[in-house]
Amino acid sequence: MTARIIDGRRVAQALRARVTEHVATLPFRPGLAVVLVGDNPASAVYVNSKDRAAAAAGIVARTIRLPADISEEALITQIARLNTDPAVDGILVQLPLPSHIVSQAIVEAIDPEKDVDGFHPLNVGKLAMGQSGLVPCTPAGVMKLLADAHIELGGVRALVLGRSTIVGRPMASLLLAANATVTMAHSRTRDLAAECRRADLIVAAAGRPGLVRGDWIASGATVIDVGINRLSDGTLVGDVAFDEAVARAGAITPVPGGVGPMTIACLLENTVTAALRRR
Ligand code: NDP
Repeated sequence: MTARIIDGRRVAQALRARVTEHVATLPFRPGLAVVLVGDNPASAVYVNSKDRAAAAAGIVARTIRLPADISEEALITQIARLNTDPAVDGILVQLPLPSHIVSQAIVEAIDPEKDVDGFHPLNVGKLAMGQSGLVPCTPAGVMKLLADAHIELGGVRALVLGRSTIVGRPMASLLLAANATVTMAHSRTRDLAAECRRADLIVAAAGRPGLVRGDWIASGATVIDVGINRLSDGTLVGDVAFDEAVARAGAITPVPGGVGPMTIACLLENTVTAALRRR
C-alpha cells in the first residue's frame, strides 16, 4: 500500500483564499498585532511570514519589535495597550520569550477575546470543556486537514504523541470533541510502538526526527506529522520516518507541506473570528 498524501499547501491556500474573500466583504479591516521580543532568527522568520500572510488576506498587520532585555512588566504594559486598542482584533506574542520573562504571565495578560493563538487559560479551559473559544492554530489546522481528507473520526482510536499546551493537549481535546477515542503519549509512555500500532490515527508532535517508524503504523492508518525538525545538513523532517510510513499508512502528511502551512492559515481565520466577535 502507498499512502494518500494529504497536501497541506493546497488546503491552506484554499483556506487563505476563503479568509481573503470573507475579509473583502467586511465593512472594516481586521487588525492583527504580532509582538516580537528580541532577535531570535527563527522567530523573526515566523513573524515575517505571519505579517505577509495577514496583509495578503486584507488584515491590517502590525509587528511590534521589542528589545530582548525588555522587562516582563514593560511587556505587559505593551500588551495592555493592545488590549484596549480598538483597531487590534488579534494579539500574538511570538514564543519563545527571553528566559527572564515568564511566558505564562504574558499569555495571561492578553485579552482572551484577542488571543488568536488560543493559549490564554480561558480559551484553554473552553476547549477542554468543549465550548467555543479561540482554538490554537496548529491543532485547528490538523482538524481541517482531516476534514478535507474525509477522515472519519467518530469512534476511531487516535494516538496523540506529545502533550504540550501548544499542540498535544489541544489536539487531544479537539479529537475528543470529534468523538475519537483519544490516547495521549509522551516521553514517559511505556511501549510507544505498541500504542502507535493500536491507533487508527496518529498525530505526532514530539519534536523528535523520525521517531515514529514504519512498523509502528497499523496498515491503512492515518498519520499526521506535526513535527518540524531541522537536521544538521539543513533538511527539514518530521517526527515520522516518512519513507517507511508511506508504505504502511492509508493517508499521511509530508514535512514540509503538511501541517506547517495550515498554522498560519488558521491564524488568519482566528483573527477574523476574533474581529467578528468583538465588533
Ligand atoms: P514540546 O517540546 O513542547 O513537546 C514535545 C512533546 O513530545 C512532550 O510532551 C514530550 O513529552 C513528547 N516527547 C518528546 N520526546 C518523546 C519521545 N521520545 N517519546 C515520546 N514522547 C516524546 O514540543 P511542541 O509541542 O511545541 O512541538 C512538537 C513538534 O511540533 C516540534 O517539532 C515543533 O517544531 C512542531 N511544531 C510544528 C508546528 C507547525 O506549524 N507545524 C507548530 C508548533 C510546533 P514530555 O511531556 O514527557 O516531555
